[in-house]
Amino acid sequence: MQSVLSIAGSDPTGGAGLQADLQVFHAHGVHGAAVPTALTIQDGLRIRRVLPVFPSVLLEQLRSTLDVIRPDVIKIGMLATDDIVRNVLLSLAPFSETPVVIDPILSASDGSALLEKRAYPALRDLIHRRCLLTPNWPEAEILVDTSLPRRKDGEAAARELVGDLELEAVLLKGGHLEGDPDDLLVTRTVKGGQTEILCEWLKGERLPGPPVHGTGCALSAAIAAGLAHGRPIREAVLGARSYVRHAIEHAHTLPNGARILAFHDERS
Ligand code: PLP
Repeated sequence: MQSVLSIAGSDPTGGAGLQADLQVFHAHGVHGAAVPTALTIQDGLRIRRVLPVFPSVLLEQLRSTLDVIRPDVIKIGMLATDDIVRNVLLSLAPFSETPVVIDPILSASDGSALLEKRAYPALRDLIHRRCLLTPNWPEAEILVDTSLPRRKDGEAAARELVGDLELEAVLLKGGHLEGDPDDLLVTRTVKGGQTEILCEWLKGERLPGPPVHGTGCALSAAIAAGLAHGRPIREAVLGARSYVRHAIEHAHTLPNGARILAFHDERS
């Protein structure tokens, strides 16, 4: 059976983070391994506290897990601190050939920081060749250290990330854009020794209702599951977008008004 390892924060509501990742992996018929980077205290609307795990404990968990599980894909979400980023980097060094989906989560929708600022340079070091990166617009601005006021600026930034860091792909999520929330997929292909960078806007549509918790986590987890099944990047991205769209359309509302995704089964 294919497997994906998620390295992410714990969200006890099950709507985002590690718990959401595991539900998405199960729904796609892949085995989910999971190493937490931090505990969070939250209710789906607000994050009250973040408690990073001890970096040495993270390191031991990653080592013992990777000793027995060789994941087809690794998915990285919330990393919390600089020490954690560095220990993830260290642990994944022998896995440079494993595809990695990185959701470079910097803060939650309520504005809480999910990665300390001094960790940004180490985060860039984590982003390597076999990566597919899924930033939203503000995260992309931080990664390229420039503001991106127009769509074509986003296009240039995504091209720069793919070109300079030699990534497999960047999916720049358009949820923060004015107008339609189109996503931009930039991929790198090598044909006859020549590198080509392809840019494609994927049409998005704003769905009615208040925001739904954990959509970014679920999207990157569904992409990772698609890649683990051996799908090409574009196909995995398109499949993940339609999975999350359906999960938003059928979202559950909690008593405090928070909306969480309906993790429907994709196996059949
Ligand atoms: N909690 C954890 C552990 C997360 O990884 C994320 C992901 O961004 C969030 C909370 C935030 O989710 P959202 O901003 O969608 O509410």
